[in-house]
Amino acid sequence: MADPTSEPTEAAFLSDFAELSAIGATERGGVHREAATHADGLGREWLRGWFAEHGLRCRVDAVGNMYGCAEPVPGAPYVLVGSHLDSQPTSGRFDGAYGVLAGAYAAASVAAAPPEAARCNVAAVNWFNEEGSRFSPSLMGSSVFVGKRTAEEVLETVGADGVTVREALRAIGFDGQDSPPRPASFAEIHIEQGRTLVDEGFDIGVVTRNWAAYKYAVTVEGEQAHTGATHMRYRRDALVGASQVVLAVRAVADEFGGAVLGSVGQLTVEPNSPVVVPSRVRLAADLRSLDVDLLEQAHQSLLARIAEIVEAGEVGVGVQGATLRPSLPYHEAGVALAGAVADDLGLRWRTLPTMAGHDSVNLRDLVPTVMLFVPSVNGISHNENEYTTDDQMITGLRMLTATTRRMVAGALETVSVP
Ligand SMILES: [Zn+2]
Repeated sequence: MADPTSEPTEAAFLSDFAELSAIGATERGGVHREAATHADGLGREWLRGWFAEHGLRCRVDAVGNMYGCAEPVPGAPYVLVGSHLDSQPTSGRFDGAYGVLAGAYAAASVAAAPPEAARCNVAAVNWFNEEGSRFSPSLMGSSVFVGKRTAEEVLETVGADGVTVREALRAIGFDGQDSPPRPASFAEIHIEQGRTLVDEGFDIGVVTRNWAAYKYAVTVEGEQAHTGATHMRYRRDALVGASQVVLAVRAVADEFGGAVLGSVGQLTVEPNSPVVVPSRVRLAADLRSLDVDLLEQAHQSLLARIAEIVEAGEVGVGVQGATLRPSLPYHEAGVALAGAVADDLGLRWRTLPTMAGHDSVNLRDLVPTVMLFVPSVNGISHNENEYTTDDQMITGLRMLTATTRRMVAGALETVSVP
């Protein structure tokens, strides 16, 4: 049991990170800890224990967001600092979890020795279902926190296994009733998931803007038939149509020479039997670009290609959702603060946009927000080989802790949200 009034050490961070990484661990060094599964529940229990050991009071809200709160300034709003513990299937152990543990350490350090003129309280946070794999869409917990979705609509969301978010959170004991802390600002640290910092030899990235993204829910309709007894001219094969959509997404990305990214990441085939021509395929696709105009052109190109697939006559294609996540800036004052902290610490840092979405994209719309990156070796992510060195993690922890301390002292208090 650690002394809750003393600052946790960097050596302890690395052994705690190893402990956390063992929860839901895969044989190849990754984790499989999708939102509100048994493994996610164990990770959450571990974090709740850590909060208690380090003097942070745990609150769990209606959609399973966890907050480890310290209140040195009674009644003041909170600097929130954290990320997400849930993972993609067979994924890396750094994505999200590093930021949650670094946030917990930063919060506990600042709470143990608050700045002299502290103006805010501090809370570590674990946002529910950032990844959006078991339950779609992604960024669920932070969306409710900032008011973009209601708790009720999230709790009613049904996963591919037929279980609702409500049932899943109840099953792991994280269907909370606590009110979330009132936020003053937010800081998140995350692995870059790209190669820029590694290739250019930087310790820290300070995020200035997010890439725009279109996310699609598409249904391809065919007709169920016998694979052995139906002549080809009578087939309406939904999987053939879905394959054309997959290739259309790739062709759209190729049109823009690297400035637009696109993939289909999920296919659900019905009835998915070896001797049945598929009747229906649902698929999830995304297109992304830093340049909103290019993304809009790509979107139109995809819709045109889908119209051609429909015109060919074998299948119907419905685009149920085409949700745009716009490209928006992070607060200049937050970028300046992070740059000043990195300079104070003697770190090599640069600004860069984030290609992936993060909970900070939601929080940014509500309060002044700082988003930091540590390097990802070879840029590998959503893969068991994801890797960030111990030194890179500790450098990031120092950076996050110093930034959090400045925010608790009121550094971003007067910043207005765009
Ligand atoms: Zn993440």
